[in-house]
Amino acid sequence: MRIGVLAVQGAFAEHEQMLRALGAECFEIRQQADLDGQMDGLVLPGGESTVMGKLLRELGLLLPLRERIESGLPVLATCAGLILLAEHIDGEEGSHLGTLPVTVKRNAYGRQLGSFYTEAEIKHIGTMPMHFIRAPYVETVENGVEVLAEVDGRIVAVRYQNQLALSFHPEVSGDTSVHRYFLNMCERTEK
Ligand code: GLN
Repeated sequence: MRIGVLAVQGAFAEHEQMLRALGAECFEIRQQADLDGQMDGLVLPGGESTVMGKLLRELGLLLPLRERIESGLPVLATCAGLILLAEHIDGEEGSHLGTLPVTVKRNAYGRQLGSFYTEAEIKHIGTMPMHFIRAPYVETVENGVEVLAEVDGRIVAVRYQNQLALSFHPEVSGDTSVHRYFLNMCERTEK
């Protein structure tokens, strides 16, 4: 199992650590040439979505990654990663990868309440710790998107076909259940 982790900015190292602990091989995606080898899954980490989106464009990674996702490559996206995937971003023109039919709201919890911790249930995965760091949430979902978790009535985890996207940061919690679920998605689609 070989997982590509987008490593142009943000919290990618924590994902790699967790995936390696679960026995997966990881490689970092920083330029087009990194996409040449086998890739069974893709992680889009947290960070700053505007910076990551700009770098994806400048590095020529946006289109090839979009193509891979559209042709079924399993993706795990957290926080800014969710914003990169979203088809619509509330209050902004345009999107980045735009493969996930949802509308997200950035920095949705306001400046003061931007970061908090809770525990909640994710469908198919179980109850888990959730660290929110200046997090977005999902405002609306289109047909076919499965809502996996809500916190205080707001959608914080969704799955759409090969795309698993979360508002929070499972990689900082020490709980590996999201990453295990994701590796299982990758195994099922491995050719
Ligand atoms: N606030 C960031 C953004 O809008 C996301 C924060 C995060 O990834 N922890 O891109």
